[in-house]
Amino acid sequence: MKDYLVKGLAYNGQVRIIAARTVDTVGEAQHRHYTWPTASAALGRSMTFGVMLGSMLNNEDKLTIRINGGGDLGTILVDANANGKVRGYVTNPQTHFPLNSIGKLDVRRAVGTDGMVTISKDIGLQQPFVGQVPIISGELGEDFTYYLAQSEQIPSSVGVGVIVNPDNTIQAAGGFIIQALPGTAVEIIEEIEKRLDRIPTISAMVRDGLTPEEILTMVVGEGNVKILETQEVLFQCTCSKDRSTKVLVSLGSAELQDMIETDGQAETQCHFCNETYQFNKSELEAMLEQAV
Ligand SMILES: [Zn+2]
Repeated sequence: MKDYLVKGLAYNGQVRIIAARTVDTVGEAQHRHYTWPTASAALGRSMTFGVMLGSMLNNEDKLTIRINGGGDLGTILVDANANGKVRGYVTNPQTHFPLNSIGKLDVRRAVGTDGMVTISKDIGLQQPFVGQVPIISGELGEDFTYYLAQSEQIPSSVGVGVIVNPDNTIQAAGGFIIQALPGTAVEIIEEIEKRLDRIPTISAMVRDGLTPEEILTMVVGEGNVKILETQEVLFQCTCSKDRSTKVLVSLGSAELQDMIETDGQAETQCHFCNETYQFNKSELEAMLEQAV
């Protein structure tokens, strides 16, 4: 099964539903950044939420999630767009702790609980829309639920989960967002809450091979799910050698001259995907001409 997400409605259009499988996407991030299990879980939960939230944007819009709770992980940064493309990194990818008291990866300890979740949405206006809430849990699922309720004023339930294999690769990753649209009957919200208490965790459902459609059926019940759209999900960065060239040119001629004389070469590295780009002396000299 490839990674994808589905968007739809439930209970005759009163409830918005989204679910995603992100195993390969989070796997790509793990592989690129060499994240250790607790860091993989924190980054994977954030990327999964990011790509689902991104799917609610319009065509060219994009969003950035920044989380810093003062824990060893540092900052989690995730970019997502409306078309299922997501990228992300953490400041300290080699962060790992013993399992917590319920035998789960201790994401709260890695993230920390003293800080903010900040989400900025670039929706083509002069200024991006920025929402910010304090971290209330550090486990992230609850924090994203809180963000949607506080910042966007939409009663929601967010489930995000990642399971890591003993060799650090990703066994399961996925998530769902359930949102009560204005006017949703209280009985429906209560029924969904009861169901959420009974069903397995999102990571267990993905591990057991449930599709995003089947996950939504578990959450809102048989016969209630109406899928409106399906979208491929993948890790994709926007960096390139060409973009790195522009950045180097923008440093100016003095800096470039120094690189040519000191090292005779240069290397840039993308934070988001860890890709490195090499530039030899003649490439630097060509940039110097552009910069002058
Ligand atoms: Zn990149």
